[in-house]
Amino acid sequence: MVKPALFLVHYHEIALKGKNRRHFEQLLAQRLRDALGEAARVRLLYGRILIEAEPEAAAAVQERLARVFGVAYYARVQRTEVDFRSIATTAVEILGDFSGSFRVTAKRANKRLPFTSPEAEREIGALIVAARGWPVRLKGAAAVVYVEFYENEAWVYTSRDRTPGPGGLPVGASGKVMVLASGGIDSPVAAWRMAKRGARPVYVHFHSYPHTSLDSLRKTVLELEALARWHGPTRLYVVPLAGVQEAVFTHSPERYRTLLYRRFMYRIAARLAEKERAGALVTGDALAQVASQTLENLHAVAKAVEMTVLRPLIGMDKTEVIAEAKQIGTYDISILPQQDCCSFLEPKRPATRSTPEQLERAESRLDVEKLVEEALAQAELRRVGE
Ligand code: ATP
Ligand code: MG
Repeated sequence: MVKPALFLVHYHEIALKGKNRRHFEQLLAQRLRDALGEAARVRLLYGRILIEAEPEAAAAVQERLARVFGVAYYARVQRTEVDFRSIATTAVEILGDFSGSFRVTAKRANKRLPFTSPEAEREIGALIVAARGWPVRLKGAAAVVYVEFYENEAWVYTSRDRTPGPGGLPVGASGKVMVLASGGIDSPVAAWRMAKRGARPVYVHFHSYPHTSLDSLRKTVLELEALARWHGPTRLYVVPLAGVQEAVFTHSPERYRTLLYRRFMYRIAARLAEKERAGALVTGDALAQVASQTLENLHAVAKAVEMTVLRPLIGMDKTEVIAEAKQIGTYDISILPQQDCCSFLEPKRPATRSTPEQLERAESRLDVEKLVEEALAQAELRRVGE
């Protein structure tokens, strides 16, 4: 039989969560199974997760591990017997033409072994020195040989094989959120940050068809396909906003238009969130990025709903958001050309400081509930990332 490729997955934060620990570990193991599929076997062991895959699948496994939230880092490991000589030989093989200082760090999950971890470190270190003559350096070694003893086997890897994962918490550990996705640069980054903290995102996109093309919807779908590579398959609600926009356009003061559209988006999103049992709305707002994102306007818009509105990008510069969007893989989609919303729907001089009372007054001639119901009745549900 061919030797399977083995990977050891480490996680930080979830180990700290006291009595929830088991739940988090199981969730992470499940997310790894979701991400890796048939190609790999995922085993939850003592404080670690071990993945066994067909050797041909190793590259694909590695690439996917880099996108599973909750993974602090992972390493391809070699399995040996519990025998210092085999372990040292394996370490030397892995390090290949390395030359420089090193140290050995051992860890025992099997406490019945007839040696302590420091003893193992010393003896394995001495064997490596004998074989290659590299100097031992306890602080600031150029390479660390890690040995983990588990039951009747040892796993060997080095600091050079350790790859950082995305960190965070496994998706679903922190509930669900409803993300308002515009098709722009910011909202996918906001969703990614929430997913990284363990929230499962479901999405809503509002389009202005037939006043604009459906470019924004097409971009949103592509962005969510890219995000699904991180957080797994999910759902997108597609809601036409043209009816709301026409009513606002006809019956409300021009300078509040954008803010009023936004209040309707929040209301509709909150209703969908209740249906989905999502605990909060998420937007890609960053403080003062545009007129609708001043402190006053953020407040006045959010007053339209009871639900918590989370804005994970609030303190970020656009350049930082762009850098993150590139890493996530959504940036190139977000900058695809898209027809701007027909200028007649947007105010020429938008209000930069509104109050909730002003916006309520601006809405006084609208049948808010009816407009929300009409939009909801036209909502379409799509699956993404399957
Ligand atoms: P983005 O890059 O996300 O479009 P932006 O800087 O263009 O951000 P705005 O257009 O002011 O910002 O929108 C702020 C936030 O409001 C968006 O990040 C998104 O969460 C939400 N939003 C705006 N337009 C829509 C829309 N058509 N559908 C869903 N959500 C929207
Ligand atoms: Mg936008």
